[in-house]
Amino acid sequence: ASDVIERERRYRLPGSQSMSDLAGIVVDRARNAEVWDTDGRRYIDFFTGVGVCNIGHSHPRFREIVGAQLDRCIVGSFYTDVRARYYELLAERLPEQLRGIHMFSTGSEAVEAAVKFARSATGRQEVLSFWGGFHGKTQGALSLHSGPRKHHSGPFPPGSYHAPFPDPYRCPFGADCSDCVGRCLDFAEQSIIYNGTGDLAAIIVEPIQGTNGNIIPPPGFLRGLRLLADKYGALLILDEVITGFGRTGTLFAFEHDPEIRPDIVVLGKSMASGVPASAIVSRPELIAGTPFGAPSAAASTFGGNPLASSASLATLQILLDEELPARARVLGERVSARLAAWSRDIPIVGNAANTGLMIGVELVHPGTRQVLPRDITQEIFRRLVGRGVLAMAYDSRIRIYPPLTIPEEQLDEGLTAFEEVLRTVRI
Ligand code: PMP
Repeated sequence: ASDVIERERRYRLPGSQSMSDLAGIVVDRARNAEVWDTDGRRYIDFFTGVGVCNIGHSHPRFREIVGAQLDRCIVGSFYTDVRARYYELLAERLPEQLRGIHMFSTGSEAVEAAVKFARSATGRQEVLSFWGGFHGKTQGALSLHSGPRKHHSGPFPPGSYHAPFPDPYRCPFGADCSDCVGRCLDFAEQSIIYNGTGDLAAIIVEPIQGTNGNIIPPPGFLRGLRLLADKYGALLILDEVITGFGRTGTLFAFEHDPEIRPDIVVLGKSMASGVPASAIVSRPELIAGTPFGAPSAAASTFGGNPLASSASLATLQILLDEELPARARVLGERVSARLAAWSRDIPIVGNAANTGLMIGVELVHPGTRQVLPRDITQEIFRRLVGRGVLAMAYDSRIRIYPPLTIPEEQLDEGLTAFEEVLRTVRI
């Protein structure tokens, strides 16, 4: 293994791959929720490339469908039966106002497209996004971000401003706040009025903030944003790059509440189970005749190519046929019970919460809400790797994204290992 690591490092530019350096393993192969390294060690995969294989690694039906497409044709953007079938199946599962689909290759690219779409549709320019939100690392996507990931890489495109995101555990208005959602919505409205110029094109938000630690907003927040978008003539964009495709217990997170009704939804990550594919879905009539709706204006080299389309089709068929969103909900209930016990009994667990199989654990100094330093989170991550569990560690938060197909005993095995590490870590 060390030989492979050496060879990669010799040529790798700095700035990539922090998780792999921390883990220090060389992956050989993966099946469903398990990964094996080149030394033959087996891991339970709670990481799944940041939640990109909800159907599990290397699903037999996925291999069959994508393999058949590899034999046929994977290049080009001409009409294909496989893309038509994907559009039909996806549209069938989307509410009427979202039955227009455009495919891209990465989440960042689709986020940028969603913003361009909203600007074109409304003839307006400004975008409201949220503290702690994450929408990708391209320049436009970073302009929606309010924090440290900008890494001195500006200037960023102007026209966006930010408001606080309600975190029930760590309210941005302080521990005494009794109306986190109300105050966040108030702040958002003040931002629209005082930071903006009456030119709001869109509000973009993650239904659950993934990169920030799987932060679940209280229920009224997204409804409130829908009302704000309507009041100020803007579109509501939901970034479901992580929450989409069953992760939270419904096929899309917006389905948890029929009142939310997004205008645009951004999809990515698990959409094609590892083959790069992303999309925006929205109403075609919003941009018909606008610059973004002009022929080719939004097209890209790989977006919707036959490989991406077949991988997306296989993924969605498997998710639906095996009823995996419902499985995420059921397994999620099992996880919730364990997390509640951890929050109660393990002193360094400050907040542990999940929606379906989107799971976040925040680590704190015992008896306080003061976050633990990053090196302790990293130590926990390394010990987990030592115990044969791959998770995600960032700052003081550990995130878990098991495949929705994970066998119950492997979910339990991974959680038990995690619990033992949390109970025995020395701070
Ligand atoms: N939106 C969200 C919610 C994400 O979590 C991410 C990636 N973590 C992105 C967008 C960007 O996706 P990509 O890395 O594929 O560009």
